[in-house]
Amino acid sequence: MSLLSVVIPAFNEEQMISRMCDEVRRVLEGADISYELVFVNDGSTDRTAEEISSQAAKDSRITGVQFSRNFGKEAAILAGLAYATGDVTAVMDCDLQHPPETLVKMYRKWQEGFQVIEGIKKNRGEESVFHRESAGFFYRIMSGIMKVDMENTSDFKMLDRQVVKTVLSMPEQKLFFRAISSWVGYQTTTVEFEVHERAAGMSKWTVGSLIRYAFTNIVSFTTIPLQFISIAGGICFVGSLVLIIYSLVQYFRGHAVEGYTTTILVMLLIGSAIMLSLGIIGFYIARIYEEVRRRPRYIVSRIINGNAGETNDKK
Ligand code: UDP
Ligand code: MG
Repeated sequence: MSLLSVVIPAFNEEQMISRMCDEVRRVLEGADISYELVFVNDGSTDRTAEEISSQAAKDSRITGVQFSRNFGKEAAILAGLAYATGDVTAVMDCDLQHPPETLVKMYRKWQEGFQVIEGIKKNRGEESVFHRESAGFFYRIMSGIMKVDMENTSDFKMLDRQVVKTVLSMPEQKLFFRAISSWVGYQTTTVEFEVHERAAGMSKWTVGSLIRYAFTNIVSFTTIPLQFISIAGGICFVGSLVLIIYSLVQYFRGHAVEGYTTTILVMLLIGSAIMLSLGIIGFYIARIYEEVRRRPRYIVSRIINGNAGETNDKK
């Protein structure tokens, strides 16, 4: 029988670990699917690690991967994929916003032969108006630039072993999981799900982290912002041509262009365009710098194996 791995990144989710285990067990045992759970504890500062240990002690199907510090959700997902041993691997949040029932629907799709099953949000769940609007704004920009519908896609996905291998073989430091799973291709389908309210604890997103997330992912996925610079340069060039022609015409008509203010305005405009452009280029250079350092995406400090207790072996 095939094995389903469920990867769950967890950052300060002490209240949720046992609930996740219970819910997933209820749903997957009910559907007669054999599974394993891989919790990736992303440097939580609360009792998440202890919770995972105590669950793993009771159930050999539960594994805990402990990070040495917080490396972010993307890194946690990748670590989970690396430690998952199943024939097919699902990734889901640790707050029950991704309903475990959908795992069964996804699994059935996988049995039909699909290799990438994307969870698509039917709704966005309960969020504050501000959070919804700001998230919506960034997702629209990102969707436009990356040509992937970012607003309704989620990190809730199921991937065949072959796809997991492909994703893990990609060498870049900052992999944007949500978009990369559609970039790799393969037989793809979607499954809709209702986003539930977070069952306990708090969302980890702040406006600042959302902006950073948007920029980092746009930069890691596309070089279109660099083309904006060329376009802006082109516009400035055309503008200055028009201005030159206008001034020459005025000159030959006998009156020179009055122009102290114009000069300053044009200089300010071009100056700020140049600085903005440098900023964008700088952002890419910073990313290149981060990539060439070739630091690991995450550091695993220990592995908690179901029943077997703790080990220090690292992959
Ligand atoms: N998460 C993580 N590392 C982080 C932030 C979040 O592993 O640095 C996990 C978190 O535990 C949860 C999932 O990512 O399982 C989604 O986080 P959250 O619910 O805060 O995001 P939202 O649902 O609001 O987008
Ligand atoms: Mg959430």
